[in-house]
Amino acid sequence: MRCSTAGYSAHVKPNERFDNGCRFPGDPEAPAGETYNCRCTLVAYIPGHDVTAGREKQRVGSLSKAGVKEQQPEAASGRSLEKFLELTSVQRRIEKSGMSKSKLMKAMREEMRKQGYSDLRAFKTLPKSRQQGVIRNAVERGITSKKYANKMAKADFKRINSPKFFKKFKGLTGGEKVNKTIAKECRAIVTHRSGTNSEDLVLISKETGKVVARSTAATKENEVKYTTSVLNAIKKHKPHTLISVHNHATNIPPTGSDFDSQHTHSYAGGIVVLHNGEVHYYEQTGVGVSGWYYDAKIDELTLTGMSDYDAAIEVMSQLQKEGRIKWTKL
Ligand SMILES: [Zn+2]
Repeated sequence: MRCSTAGYSAHVKPNERFDNGCRFPGDPEAPAGETYNCRCTLVAYIPGHDVTAGREKQRVGSLSKAGVKEQQPEAASGRSLEKFLELTSVQRRIEKSGMSKSKLMKAMREEMRKQGYSDLRAFKTLPKSRQQGVIRNAVERGITSKKYANKMAKADFKRINSPKFFKKFKGLTGGEKVNKTIAKECRAIVTHRSGTNSEDLVLISKETGKVVARSTAATKENEVKYTTSVLNAIKKHKPHTLISVHNHATNIPPTGSDFDSQHTHSYAGGIVVLHNGEVHYYEQTGVGVSGWYYDAKIDELTLTGMSDYDAAIEVMSQLQKEGRIKWTKL
């Protein structure tokens, strides 16, 4: 069974709990984060018999033998947007966000564009899990922009222009040319966006160390703009060869949508540079992490009074221990 991230599968002996705390899928005693939108199933496990008949392998981004994520096609759901919006779980999510219908539709249209579709008509052709991803990102953006609307941190120029800033990128990836490009772009992005709450996005090839795409004209709060040229560059390059670099004027580490975006676009790794000069590198390994799970874990901690920053650090440390992400604070 699997909840927090798609594709979870585990074996337990009778009367034992799964490692996510559930006794069975949808266990009412388990944390909400493990059961909302759960589509898990329980099957008998008999050693030597493939009781799932390969079904557990049918998901996007499963692991190949080499341990590298590969895209596996999932069937189109055929579920229309109207039908999707009638689902109770979806209605609950919209209600919780406090977004108006028109605002939600706009955000969903943008999210579809971000994923390379021209409009919402293509929604029907997406597999069910990707339909969930579209609404999750759309709603998340609505909440994020409300929560951080006034955080427009000025760049810490002293820090980003110091030789020490440049040096901390040394050894980050295998290639020194790649590291240098990342450092240079981080400095340029924060300088450009100082005192605003808009974001720049730069994609760097891990193989050549060259910038392959740049989006610097976004005007929306706290989100990067996926221009046609950025989307084309992603299509042109092999999966897991690009590193994304973007800024956070909120001075908080990567968010759930950053992890989702990394998965959607098959980036090799991601860099978030904060306006105060702090830099975070993040990469998903093994089963990875869904943005929804990541944000739910952060919410659990912030509800106890922890700051957004500390909660993100805590959750990333935990996920790193579990082998689901690779994370470095530079
Ligand atoms: Zn971000």
